[in-house]
Amino acid sequence: PLILGIETSCDETGVGLVRGQTLLADAIASSVDEHARFGGVVPEVASRAHLEAMVPTIRRACETAGVKLSDVDAVAVTSGPGLAGALLVGVAAAKALALSIDKPLYGVNHLAAHVAVDTLEHGDLPKGAVAMLVSGGHSSLLAVEDITEGVQPMGSTIDDAAGEAFDKVARVLGLPFPGGPYVDKAARDGGDRAYVTFPRGLTSQRDLERHRFDFSFSGLKTAVARWVEAKRRDGEDVPVNHVAAAFQEAVCDVLTRKAIDACKDRGYEHLLIGGGVAANSRLRAMAEERCAAAGIAVRVPRPGLCTDNGAMVAALGSELVRAGKDPSPLELPADSSMPITLVLN
Ligand code: ATP
Ligand code: MG
Ligand code: FE
Repeated sequence: PLILGIETSCDETGVGLVRGQTLLADAIASSVDEHARFGGVVPEVASRAHLEAMVPTIRRACETAGVKLSDVDAVAVTSGPGLAGALLVGVAAAKALALSIDKPLYGVNHLAAHVAVDTLEHGDLPKGAVAMLVSGGHSSLLAVEDITEGVQPMGSTIDDAAGEAFDKVARVLGLPFPGGPYVDKAARDGGDRAYVTFPRGLTSQRDLERHRFDFSFSGLKTAVARWVEAKRRDGEDVPVNHVAAAFQEAVCDVLTRKAIDACKDRGYEHLLIGGGVAANSRLRAMAEERCAAAGIAVRVPRPGLCTDNGAMVAALGSELVRAGKDPSPLELPADSSMPITLVLN
């Protein structure tokens, strides 16, 4: 079956076309430039941009894949979580489309879609795996037996998400928004990871007792900001590349350590990594290295599929169709706080 997926949970209008586990098209329009001067996504601006971009992006995806809308067998859409007004645009478009071609509608969870997208690159998900979801709004460790049945949360951030920390540190360093890719690049351009040792949140023996699989990045962000302020106060240059590398090292160290510990706790030999921060080059390298040493197979989709896109929604829709799941009612809501445990609304 041919699945069309629509994503509008944040500032990317994404439309993907997937047949089985084969990616046919992944069209994206982003309003990121309109938000950049505000240093964060402005919900109202994002909603209006989705409305304008929706139909052209659907057309572009169909052209790329060489299919007509009437060829589509099911429509999948991000039902939540995300920005309420932004979600509404995608859900309304998906309903109209499903109704007009008289095909089923699947309202899926954005976070589960970040995990399911890996099927497009590496095929069926392993039968038992830990999924580490690291994005702009979330940082979680999940136990996944079968993504179409749901996920079990093992832990999550108690303050900032990993992507949020990247974006805030980028701002402190004077790098553009969204900061993740710029911090990554600054670190790669000769950054010394050992230049400063920034704090690793929730890794002390005492914290591990209560927060073994939880994360905290707010203290790290503050430590970086203090360090940078002190340098500026003393009239010294801030070595942006070194600070970026040292900050990134602290984030990746904690993420990979806890992810591997979660695999060991569950007896799983597979780690899946998804979400925008999974595009980070240091995280990918460190996960490969440490997982190899621990006898764990790590799967990360290519960077372009880690950040928000329509293909991931189509991929999860496709898995749900293949598993014979019932579609969503046409009254499907836009569920801005959809729980991570719910895969389909
Ligand atoms: P969520 O999925 O939680 O709703 P989101 O949809 O806003 O969040 P994603 O596209 O999944 O976001 O992820 C965006 C985040 O990923 C941003 O915080 C961005 O800075 C970060 N990011 C993107 N590329 C990189 C990179 N190479 N290194 C680090 N962070 C990155
Ligand atoms: Mg985005
Ligand atoms: Fe996302």
